[in-house]
Amino acid sequence: MSESWHGGAAAVATLTFDVDAETPILAHGRGYAGHATTMSHQAYGPDVGLPRILGLLDELAVPATFFVPGWVAEQRPGLAASIAERGHEVAHHSYSHRPPTSLTPEEERADFVRALEVFAAQGVEISGHRAALWEATWRTAGLVAEHGLLYDSSLMGDDRPYIVETGAGRVVELPVHWSLDDWEQYAYLPAPNVGAVIESPAKVLELWRTELDGMRRYRCLFNLCVHPFLSGRPGRVEALRRFLEYALERGDVRFARCRDVARAALADSGLPVRPHRPPVVDEETYPA
Ligand code: ZN
Repeated sequence: MSESWHGGAAAVATLTFDVDAETPILAHGRGYAGHATTMSHQAYGPDVGLPRILGLLDELAVPATFFVPGWVAEQRPGLAASIAERGHEVAHHSYSHRPPTSLTPEEERADFVRALEVFAAQGVEISGHRAALWEATWRTAGLVAEHGLLYDSSLMGDDRPYIVETGAGRVVELPVHWSLDDWEQYAYLPAPNVGAVIESPAKVLELWRTELDGMRRYRCLFNLCVHPFLSGRPGRVEALRRFLEYALERGDVRFARCRDVARAALADSGLPVRPHRPPVVDEETYPA
């Protein structure tokens, strides 16, 4: 009998922080580098939000995973290593944050490998990957397997870990969903269009609590995705603190780094294997 991925907890929480900084905006066009206000809005993430979030995690003694684009790690030498030194995991979040669905197969591979080279040069151990904007192609999981990583966290085929069988081997999928992403709640910029609504942190707290309670009933992976440039703001980090306190008070939620959940999932023989191929579509039904 193998160990179960959840280790007996009602739900497992992976707190993931996507340290995107300037990259999602530059992916809309290099010209945004000339927008001082927009670039400073993005730099707030690593410069102000991230230290505040790391302090909160220390205080509550919960581990987390930080998905960092290679470009961000390169621009801010020491950033990735300083996160890992505090006991958290650093993971692969592309090099440039251009979504794989917008790239050719060659471009996707080159961007993927370039990020791995940055982390290798900085001595940062990488075990998993998340596609920029969660816009994975059918090739993405294969790149993850081919480069010896344990897991991907970009797909939505379950709310518990599952196995993706790629041509290059198996990877664990730690699925995501927009309901557990702060981007849909808080992202706002006049341009480019990354979002246009600023929600109340009180509403977000209620959304995440409700989802956690459902996930505790169905023994799920609560895979929270938070961006320091968004949730690092005072009222929002306060809502995050309240949420974490609520989860800790339940007494049946296990907090873990993605790497540790992926290892446990690989050792669980009961994990479902989901097919990983595009649907067959004919030109007559879908002409365009
Ligand atoms: Zn991102």
